[in-house]
Amino acid sequence: DGRKFDGKTALVTGAGGNIGLATALRLANEGAALALVDISPEKLSQAKAACSASGVPVEAYDCDITDRDAVAATVDRIVSAFGAIDLLFNNAGFQGAFKPIHEYPEEDFEAVIRINVFGAFHMLRAVSRHMVKRRFGRIVNTASMAGVQGPPNMVAYGTSKFGVVGLTQIASKDLAPYNIRVNAISPAFMGPGYMWDRQVELQAEAGTQYFSSNPEEVAKQMIESVPMRRYGDISEIPGVVSFLMSDDSSYMTGVNVPISGG
Ligand code: NAD
Repeated sequence: DGRKFDGKTALVTGAGGNIGLATALRLANEGAALALVDISPEKLSQAKAACSASGVPVEAYDCDITDRDAVAATVDRIVSAFGAIDLLFNNAGFQGAFKPIHEYPEEDFEAVIRINVFGAFHMLRAVSRHMVKRRFGRIVNTASMAGVQGPPNMVAYGTSKFGVVGLTQIASKDLAPYNIRVNAISPAFMGPGYMWDRQVELQAEAGTQYFSSNPEEVAKQMIESVPMRRYGDISEIPGVVSFLMSDDSSYMTGVNVPISGG
């Protein structure tokens, strides 16, 4: 029948999370075998069960992407198990505290940079070493509009996502000679659910001039800042990732695609 990712293997990080799982399911339905990576064994086993229903080979790997050696070992195990990694969705991430810079906790800054920048770097480097040998690869990093616009009270997260945009642009140039394309997606406000509620509550608690101290008001303020006047649904992300991994985007690399309602 010829689904677009038949015969391909996709490595998805943060596969136990909202965006990772939704995207893994989409890639599986388009034929890709899946190597699911996450730090949470519970979320991983749920994700594995959900993806296995698609009938493609699925394996789960409990791995902390901030651990360089664990990442290298996991990538080796995946290559041995599947034979190759064709597609990488480098997506695991963490948000940290919402506070203005003069109150920002160093622990949160460090944790966020470790996961979002070092983690993405370790995975990108380990997988691209493998892809360079095969002269084939399609990589999508999850950045954020926070790494484009620089929202208040999110200095760790925003800075880390500016870093992911940088990793994307630079890796795309380094890897272009090897038939490896590297792009990013930048979701903005996604909801409903935990991430949305948390963001709204923490922006309210931050108590700055940019948002109301009432979470319901913050939700309205955020929505009013979006031209399409709504938050995005998680289901509006996987198709963009699939597009960036497919030949439909064959002349695109180093691009950061906003998924932001305008
Ligand atoms: P999520 O919290 O549901 O998923 C993140 C996943 O990453 C979790 O399953 C978590 O266990 C995993 N993870 C965290 N630290 C890890 C580590 N050290 N090693 C391996 N796995 C680790 O959140 P999500 O919304 O699915 O986020 C996915 C990506 O999208 C993140 O990079 C996030 O920054 C980005 N993003 C999300 C939104 C949003 O509103 N949901 C907006 C913009 C960008």
